[in-house]
Amino acid sequence: MAKTEPGPHNFVFGNYAPAPESKDHFKIKKSYDLFIGGKWVKASKKFETINPATGEVIAKVGEAGKKEVGQAVKAARKAFEGEWGQLSGAERGKYLFRIARLIQERSRELAVVESMDGGKPIRESRDVDIPLVAAHFFYHAGWADKLDYAFPGVKPKPLGVVGQVIPWNFPLLMAAWKIAPALACGNTVVLKPAETTPLTALKLAEIFEDAGLPPGTVNIVTGAGETGQALIEHPDVDKVAFTGSTAVGKAIRRAIAGTDKKFTLELGGKAANIVFEDAPINEAVEGILNGIFFNQGHVCCAGSRLFVQESIADKVIKKLKKRMETLIVGDPLDKNTDIGAINSAEQLERIKALVKAGEREGACIWQPEGRLPRKGNWFKPTLFTECAQSHRIVQEEIFGPVLAIQTFRTPQEALEKANNTPYGLSGGVWTDKGSKIFKMTTGLKAGVVWANTFNKFDPTSPFGGYKESGIGREGGVHGLAAYLNF
Ligand code: NAD
Ligand code: MN
Repeated sequence: MAKTEPGPHNFVFGNYAPAPESKDHFKIKKSYDLFIGGKWVKASKKFETINPATGEVIAKVGEAGKKEVGQAVKAARKAFEGEWGQLSGAERGKYLFRIARLIQERSRELAVVESMDGGKPIRESRDVDIPLVAAHFFYHAGWADKLDYAFPGVKPKPLGVVGQVIPWNFPLLMAAWKIAPALACGNTVVLKPAETTPLTALKLAEIFEDAGLPPGTVNIVTGAGETGQALIEHPDVDKVAFTGSTAVGKAIRRAIAGTDKKFTLELGGKAANIVFEDAPINEAVEGILNGIFFNQGHVCCAGSRLFVQESIADKVIKKLKKRMETLIVGDPLDKNTDIGAINSAEQLERIKALVKAGEREGACIWQPEGRLPRKGNWFKPTLFTECAQSHRIVQEEIFGPVLAIQTFRTPQEALEKANNTPYGLSGGVWTDKGSKIFKMTTGLKAGVVWANTFNKFDPTSPFGGYKESGIGREGGVHGLAAYLNF
């Protein structure tokens, strides 16, 4: 096999030959327009999206201003009152099934583009993101003609035009979480992808074209925060669905206060992953790794706080470090890679600043040996011991591959510490005892709790937070309800 440049493969324990996924089976255009009313519409401005693993520009995309956002909302209204709005549930279901199958057909392309634009390992985009994207469309396709059975006796009706704003950590998956239920329920959509990862949403627009989706049913307007703001503030948007940071979630709530817009907000998190002395330790160590290093820790439900029972703390931390030394950090397109690139230079700065704060406040940092690639945005898998409840690394969302470890003696102590954050999105419990699982999962103030596993997702299961982690649920029947009037 041809030798690839050594740069991205430096951080390797053991010697794996490079195994990069190929990029020659599809095309990325140099420049993308906005997808409005079933047509590609030129934006007056453009911005670049880069590959965070190399720093190279991948493509230019349109930056939608107020005018273009207005056109998109108008197109969505027209489709809602016209062709899409007239379809029966069974007909809507057919489109969703068709879209799901087209996603499967183009899954390799979508996985590679996702990894190039956002930096996540191909193993994850190929085996987690894209299969789940298809699963969300399949699942909601099945509901489209059964809404009367999901909500018997209350005559569910669509809301109208939905404005959706999504983040960069699971770009296409978040698009699917938003679009599939909205369409199943008969709404029309204007979606704004995140500015660092717009490409797979634009590929999805190509799929909508191929599926013959009626014009205006889904419109995709790329851009940054201002574009998102123009969308959520537009007076003809009936519902706002947002996934992103708590700070922006609060701003959105203020912006739509006093209107009759419906909204769901999926915001940040600081999940506790709690390991008891009776847990299967090796499995728990794998779960801890998956909990915090999956997708570079850019995961709202990441298990970023580890609580380990005091009696096994030394053993668990030792095993964890040993395992972390085997993690491969590097080229996201390499099939061996465990940890890819940090999504953007800004996010890397945020991670570095919080890690510095952790050191300054007295926590004890540990990272495996090894050099990081020279070009691009990278951060080593990191753990902190000697953490206190008051440390910023324990209270604030880092959204990077950084684990804060604390110990506990009793289940009650674990619960109190675990619940002591402004967030409440997810949590994990590792124990051999079913009774402990029930005690902990009922005591944790979190929307999703995993027992003896972590970061498992399924379209049938509602997802969402307590407290500053957000309002509303996505997925399952709960997620459908958020796109309906009764
Ligand atoms: P962000 O809030 O900065 O951006 C999210 C999206 O909102 C982007 O598309 C952005 O362009 C847009 N935006 C920014 N300002 C806006 C405004 N004033 N009005 C409307 N839209 C605006 O968040 P981020 O840095 O992109 O993503 C990371 C955050 O998202 C983390 O806090 C993470 O926990 C959270 N997140 C939550 C979930 C969940 O399901 N709860 C899932 C993924 C990410
Ligand atoms: Mn990018």
